[in-house]
Amino acid sequence: MLVTNGGIDTLYAFLISELGQIHDGACLESDIGVAAICGERHAIANMVLEESYKAKIKSIVVATPVPEVQAQGSTPCGNCRHLIWERGRPGTTVLILQYIRQKNRWVFPRLEKYTIKKLYPNAYVPVEWELD
Ligand SMILES: [Zn+2]
Repeated sequence: MLVTNGGIDTLYAFLISELGQIHDGACLESDIGVAAICGERHAIANMVLEESYKAKIKSIVVATPVPEVQAQGSTPCGNCRHLIWERGRPGTTVLILQYIRQKNRWVFPRLEKYTIKKLYPNAYVPVEWELD
């Protein structure tokens, strides 16, 4: 369940797993950059916690606050693209949603649809090295 604590304009992520369960996350910002957590990774961590490491992402929505409609929404960072790839499939859908919170309502002026394969075409695949 999404908790906004009075309405914080931040990046939220919502995903549906292949089991049909919905998991959400919110960006946790910090004064130390490496301590911050992206909303996408938060939602993925919730999926793993509530389902398992075998859970797969069917679709993920990345909702970003904007002051006015932007020509293009904010796509996931490199770390999140990798995790969506790793915890999804090449056809996993990534929906980029812009939102504007107004006094008594929310406005969603633009929605873009990608697959993770399109956003992360050359996925990192670790190679196991044999040491002599
Ligand atoms: Zn990220």
